[in-house]
Amino acid sequence: MAMQESYCKAMRYSGPESLQLRDQTKFDVLIQVEALTGCRHTCTGCFVDKHGDPAAEKELLRVARQLADGVKAAGLNLREFVVGPTDFFSASNTISVLNNPDTQAILREHTNARMATPAKFELADQEQFDAIFAVLDNEVKFRKDMIIEFIAPIELPDTMLYNEEYFDAVMQRVAYFKHSTPKNIDWSWTLQQSSILGRKVSKKSYDAIIDKALNEYGTIVEMNPAFTRAPVHKQKENLQSWNQFLSNVIDEGNCNKATMSMANLNCNSMNFIGLTVLMGTDGPEVHLNVMLHEQAFFPQNSRTNVTGLSFSQIMDRRNELILDGIQQFSEHPLYKDTPYVIALANRLVWEAIRALDLTEEEAILPMDVLALYNPYEEGSHLWNEDALKQATFKAGVA
Ligand code: SF4
Repeated sequence: MAMQESYCKAMRYSGPESLQLRDQTKFDVLIQVEALTGCRHTCTGCFVDKHGDPAAEKELLRVARQLADGVKAAGLNLREFVVGPTDFFSASNTISVLNNPDTQAILREHTNARMATPAKFELADQEQFDAIFAVLDNEVKFRKDMIIEFIAPIELPDTMLYNEEYFDAVMQRVAYFKHSTPKNIDWSWTLQQSSILGRKVSKKSYDAIIDKALNEYGTIVEMNPAFTRAPVHKQKENLQSWNQFLSNVIDEGNCNKATMSMANLNCNSMNFIGLTVLMGTDGPEVHLNVMLHEQAFFPQNSRTNVTGLSFSQIMDRRNELILDGIQQFSEHPLYKDTPYVIALANRLVWEAIRALDLTEEEAILPMDVLALYNPYEEGSHLWNEDALKQATFKAGVA
């Protein structure tokens, strides 16, 4: 049996990073690799490049493994290995990516690492679903207790809310996760910008979606707009419309039910680094992620391009960017008098402002929504088990 219920619950409060900055002693790394290609779905407004070259997967995974080795050598913790960007259950090369020795080595050697992937598992073809789990459940290839997180895009909000056949299809697969695989499966919905704008999700629908997710599907709704998947000239407009959407739908009545990791200043901030490996024009590239609603990356910003650097050089680059960010946010009219300066700098948000060319009047985040969460609630009930153990240990030795 295998459902990550404690983690799932904890994710509502942003996971281990919910600790105060001063208590964060573990340094987490996320590596995301753009290795999957092809998708049989046609989600409204999807900006994901579905036509990557499957031949690139070996090179991309080789670079991902080099990075993961660097994480280990530095004594840091690989928390998440994200395999994307297309649907795990209908990409043309999922099995090949899973059978790749570098994929298996990363997930075998980093025993705390979970694999995360975008997955419309509820609509997966049964034969493909079985074939994928046959590889995942092969203990020669993957650890028996490995955690896998499926992130399911809500393509049709009304279907997710009101279609009973669809509800049954989802829950049938969830039952499989619980009873028919030894893997620890975690799953969540995600609302993406293409869906909320294309389907014009109202506040009433949004409230219904988070209630249905929590009360009936038994999971959370993550807010991952995927705005950097859009062409560069569209990214700023997309970010601003996403921020406007959040301002419209989140209020005091529902903010505690919404999963708003970006609003928790401690989440993915001081002790975190996210990297994306993607295919560039001259081969694999590695980019530092910006924590901006999600793991965003801006290939147009040369400062976050860390291709060819060793892991320790990447850490040095990150530190340089953080220092510059602290200086910029400390003088910026929108942020200098807020409690967000350090968190935004550590999340490398200044690099997004540069890449998107925002003016001094244009906020990068919905400040009214941030105000609902800060100061946010504190207390041990917000921490997940890792964080609690850490806190208990510290208290014990104090
Ligand atoms: S959003 Fe994901 S699942 Fe939907 S069409 Fe795009 S790649 Fe496929």
